[in-house]
Amino acid sequence: MNDQHVSEFRQALRGRVITRGDADYDEARAVYNGMIDKRPLLIARCADTSDIIAAVNFGRAHGLLIAIRGGGHNGPGLGSCDDGLVIDLSTMRGVRVDPARAEVRVEPGCTSGDVDHATHAFGLAVPSGIVASTGVAGLTLGGGSGYLTRKHGLTIDNLLEADVVLADGSFVTASKSENPDLFWALRGGGGNFGVVASFLFRAHPVKMVYAGPIFWDAKHAKQIMCAYREFLPSAPEELGIFVGLKTVPSMDPFPREAWGKRACALISCFNGPEEAAKKALAPLLDALPAPFFNWMSVMPFPAIQALFDPFFPKGLQWYWKGDFVKDLSDEAIDVHIAEAAKAPSEISLMHLYPISGAAGRVGKDDTAWAARDAAFSMVIAAVDSRPSQAEALKQWGRSYWKAVHKFNPGGGYINFMDADDGEARIKESFGDHYQRLAAIKNKYDPANLFRVNQNIRPAA
Ligand SMILES: Cc1cc2nc3c(=O)[nH]c(=O)nc-3n(C[C@H](O)[C@H](O)[C@H](O)COP(=O)(O)OP(=O)(O)OC[C@H]3O[C@@H](n4cnc5c(N)ncnc54)[C@H](O)[C@@H]3O)c2cc1C
Repeated sequence: MNDQHVSEFRQALRGRVITRGDADYDEARAVYNGMIDKRPLLIARCADTSDIIAAVNFGRAHGLLIAIRGGGHNGPGLGSCDDGLVIDLSTMRGVRVDPARAEVRVEPGCTSGDVDHATHAFGLAVPSGIVASTGVAGLTLGGGSGYLTRKHGLTIDNLLEADVVLADGSFVTASKSENPDLFWALRGGGGNFGVVASFLFRAHPVKMVYAGPIFWDAKHAKQIMCAYREFLPSAPEELGIFVGLKTVPSMDPFPREAWGKRACALISCFNGPEEAAKKALAPLLDALPAPFFNWMSVMPFPAIQALFDPFFPKGLQWYWKGDFVKDLSDEAIDVHIAEAAKAPSEISLMHLYPISGAAGRVGKDDTAWAARDAAFSMVIAAVDSRPSQAEALKQWGRSYWKAVHKFNPGGGYINFMDADDGEARIKESFGDHYQRLAAIKNKYDPANLFRVNQNIRPAA
């Protein structure tokens, strides 16, 4: 590849090709996780599907390593690569809501916040994650869990159709009726099969919710986690609620007397009126001690979706570990509490997201997501603003995970994995779906052009 090729590539795109000589190269290559410092050769900032096709063809023709970037939130930085081509979709952020059909067409650079903003005007929402700045593309392709999961399933359970640019540059639509094998693989199999240029989602009626965090002193953590575990199976599915082991941030508006104290939190979102929410939560909350604070109130759905965003701006150091959890035993809870107490920073956390309810009722073989029988998706996120803490974050994440992993069935959510979760972990996570995924990979991307991801090797 020479300058002439790059110049021709530039002319072929509506969007931009950013190279190492461009003034905004460093800004353009930066992803969400400040621990990632990859230096791609070229960043193709696509404006439309035609640009994506041109970029895939250019990358393949010149033998370049290709990374696909949606929201750029991926923990190990799989939205970028060293010395290769980044197909950057971050400016393709259109959302079209069809209120009559309750369907939403989403471009691949959208964040959850973009979609929440667009759908809220129509009293609708698409189930996605709990941080508004997260990219919809990577989140969806890995599965997608959040506050609406118990009632409406994972994000993939609400995916109706996807437009995909394949490794050979051809364009296909995947749905239950068109290319159903590809559609199956896209729902949980990650970015392995092509560049998704557009998603079509089913949306659900969601407008004002009763939502927010409640934090208790960590000395009550065992009681809260046990009560939460017992309460959840019979709680109404309108209630999305997860438990976390955290620290009260030392800043306003948190109560000063709790600053820096270890805490156990329940963070909830009830899709319905306040009275019904209070009734739903009463069997859990009435039996628990007084919290540090209870900030649940009526709010627009996009507000709870953006709750964490101010604490997690772009550029922090992140290290991730995840597991699926079937049974949360008393013994496992004790280990969680002991390990979480060693957190290296105030914003490091452990969350247990329920993936039961509607998500658990989808047939195990209906999508590539293999953990339909799990109760929770666990994430340990070691986070700090200081690059000097990177090693301490990794050490804590690894040793916490090692201590609790023995209670879990093996495998985890691919979107909560880090670079040191190797091929064996990926295989474990897909279980007996792996061979089927590898065969589909072989059909649509036999040369493994798209390999900067939680990679599934082509079967052949
Ligand atoms: C602060 C934070 C909160 C999170 N909360 C949640 C949560 O509540 N629920 C949840 O389920 N997950 C959550 N996640 C995890 C999240 O799902 C992953 O980080 C996901 O990879 C983000 O997608 P992205 O598009 O932003 O990432 P990117 O880094 O852009 O891409 C991630 C992967 O997806 C692939 N990819 C991206 N776009 C495309 C495309 N258009 N076509 C094909 N492949 C593509 C890339 O190749 C890469 O392998 C969270 C992450 C963060 C950082």
